[in-house]
Amino acid sequence: MAEEKQIPYKIYLEEQEMPEAWYNVRADMKNKPAPLLNPETLEPMTAEELGVVFCDELVKQELDNENPYIKIPEEIRSFYKMYRPSPLVRAYCLEEKLQTPAKIYYKFEGNNTSGSHKLNSAIAQAYYAKNQGLKGVTTETGAGQWGTALSMACAYLNLDCRVFMVKCSYEQKPFRREVMRTYGAQVTPSPSETTEVGRKILKEHPGTSGSLGCAISEAVECATGMEGYRYVLGSVLNQVLLHQSIIGLETKAALDKYGVVPDIIIGCAGGGSNLGGLISPFMGEKLRGERDYQFIAVEPASCPTLTRGKFAYDFCDTGMVTPLAKMYTLGSGFIPSASHAGGLRYHGMNPVLSQLYADGLMEARSVEQTSVFEAAQMFARVEGILPAPESAHAIRAALDEAMKCKETGEEKTIVFGLTGTGYFDMFAYGRYNDGEMSDYIPTDAELQAGFDGIPKI
Ligand SMILES: *Cc1c(COP(=O)(O)O)cnc(C)c1O
Repeated sequence: MAEEKQIPYKIYLEEQEMPEAWYNVRADMKNKPAPLLNPETLEPMTAEELGVVFCDELVKQELDNENPYIKIPEEIRSFYKMYRPSPLVRAYCLEEKLQTPAKIYYKFEGNNTSGSHKLNSAIAQAYYAKNQGLKGVTTETGAGQWGTALSMACAYLNLDCRVFMVKCSYEQKPFRREVMRTYGAQVTPSPSETTEVGRKILKEHPGTSGSLGCAISEAVECATGMEGYRYVLGSVLNQVLLHQSIIGLETKAALDKYGVVPDIIIGCAGGGSNLGGLISPFMGEKLRGERDYQFIAVEPASCPTLTRGKFAYDFCDTGMVTPLAKMYTLGSGFIPSASHAGGLRYHGMNPVLSQLYADGLMEARSVEQTSVFEAAQMFARVEGILPAPESAHAIRAALDEAMKCKETGEEKTIVFGLTGTGYFDMFAYGRYNDGEMSDYIPTDAELQAGFDGIPKI
């Protein structure tokens, strides 16, 4: 084996080493993700139909299963340069603390004001909207990271931005809301009285604290009802996973510099975009038979989409206004328990990741939230970064894998995605610190209620 070069705490790429194209893992998949279906005709959605809701260039990317590389426009690259390339950190302090022979790395995406990886896709989507001559975009946001990222991108490009924010987050995270408004976005708590679907949901579930699926329905209705507006989405869609491939491409480039080959690659999975982006170039190698890796998706036990969901065509939203996507799903009516505080609460999973998981190319595991916050706290104390609870799901699994190495003496190389910072999640941290956080695992009967709402196709 070649002598290992001394690896710095942080591996930074030079600006000019930042990828010039996104990598589209679909091009290397034998079993392509199933197409989006029109819920009325059950025929694959055409570009024309999708163009009513989404920007034209993004529709092209959504439907592109063939081109492995898609050039990143220069304007997007110059925006990326404000906060990218992001560092790949060797977690020496964590390794020391755990006394593990494992080598741990994390790719940190929290180094921008929005505090997460979501900015990577927000700027791309805003750019294509602007390029098409649109006036503005609408979207939903749960915890608020996506809305923040999109409002930053829209401010940069001078595009109007309307955000439907899940009501409980709107109330619990007023500072996120104010960040968005500072960047010029209009923020509405969802469900709201401003849309037909919002009024309907409020009537059926008075006092509901909202859900992502419900906010999506409102944002789609708002976009299609206004001239010069389109809807944009922060995760789940294949185009978002494509934009997030920059995470994986940079990670691979940084590791290649030092001749490091990971054994295990771990990411948290909400709608699947950061995980999909992180693993894409590595998965490409695996799909082409060049190298093997172990990929682990980590999700909350209270929203166990991959580990307990069904692989079926389902709606992407509660109001059932979106196309049908074939994905792992808990049913579009599924809303995680109110005690769930760790994010990653979406009912479905990106179709590319769903297909890869169905084909046995990726593993998934679920973790309980107190163990997630325990990992977050430990990580913060030794590595210094206060992680987002979402990111802490990946930390949890990385710690578990590193501890397995300690038992077996294996020197595995573990890479995980640290998707963001947790400054706006102090309400949840507070509950953990006060010992008031509990774990909730839905029963089979509770999940069945969600499955019953999946359309029979
Ligand atoms: C949104 C978000 C996630 C989950 O979304 P994915 O699309 O699954 O990546 C994870 N971490 C952070 C910090 C987020 O903001």
